[in-house]
Amino acid sequence: MLPFKLVYSDDYYLPIGSHVFPAEKYKRIHDRLLASGIAAPSDFVVPSPATDRDVLLVHTPQYVEKLKTGTLSAREQLELEVPYSPELVRAFWLNAGGSILAADHALNDGMAISIGGGFHHAFPDHGEGFCLIHDVAIAIRRMQRDGKIHRAITVDCDVHQGNGTAAIFAGARTASGPLPPVPNAPMNPAFSGNIPAKAAAKTRMHSGHAGDVFTISLHQENNYPAWKPPSSIDIDLPDEIGDDDYLAWLDNALGSGLRQFNPELLCYLAGADPYREDQLGGLSLTIGGLKKRDELVFRAAKARGIPVMVTLAGGYARKLEDTITIHCNTVVAAKEVMQK
Ligand SMILES: [Zn+2]
Repeated sequence: MLPFKLVYSDDYYLPIGSHVFPAEKYKRIHDRLLASGIAAPSDFVVPSPATDRDVLLVHTPQYVEKLKTGTLSAREQLELEVPYSPELVRAFWLNAGGSILAADHALNDGMAISIGGGFHHAFPDHGEGFCLIHDVAIAIRRMQRDGKIHRAITVDCDVHQGNGTAAIFAGARTASGPLPPVPNAPMNPAFSGNIPAKAAAKTRMHSGHAGDVFTISLHQENNYPAWKPPSSIDIDLPDEIGDDDYLAWLDNALGSGLRQFNPELLCYLAGADPYREDQLGGLSLTIGGLKKRDELVFRAAKARGIPVMVTLAGGYARKLEDTITIHCNTVVAAKEVMQK
């Protein structure tokens, strides 16, 4: 029995057919957690879909209407990079409901993990990069609306920058935010082709943070999205960075963020795609390094008494088994840190 809840439904499954996004991963992780004895059936709680009112805390009424009535333009559908369907919309509403439930349980138990979610490329008025709506932002806004928290921090360790998160929580910056210097290339490089670049990691820190949500993103600089709207802290990592350098940058960013900001909830996006065998990533983390990453985040939060809500985000390893292992290890890392 785990000292926290896992949020999961078989209906998290995204009906997108054969796709680089392994939609079956959620069920496979659920099954592996049970079969391996990491979790028991009683550790799981089943979410309900988010309500439209919840979704509207983050997204524009026009965009929500288009999603619900199937009236996205051809261009808007293309930007999603997943085939639109009413069933897909329902799965996203359920994933958002799962993140709300996970946030709620995290506030009670100090930790909760949704075996889904982390759709950080969704903006208030459009979706892109396999993301229709931003489940994590919706969960944060719902916790705030219910008066359960005032301030939250997002720690995004997916290999792709959390552009939607940055845009949603930029607050005053959004009105005059920079325009994309180049059109956004698709997330799946099968459509584009990555240009390798050797560079040192760069930290972009945006001082004078005034909002109620502090955003940290550690990501590969030379990857989707081409336009990276500013997070509170962005760590732009060079290609092929390994475990030790990555963990040092993460430690740095967490220390800096948690010195500046005193959140009541930490939302961790535990993307599996910084893995060296990832098809859409260009970093060189090992499976062991990714587990250390999870432990680092959980220990930093626990040391400061901050509840943690986890979502899975991306993961496109050549072998699906590796993606499953990395995500299951996040649960193991949480268990180990929380039981100490
Ligand atoms: Zn990703």
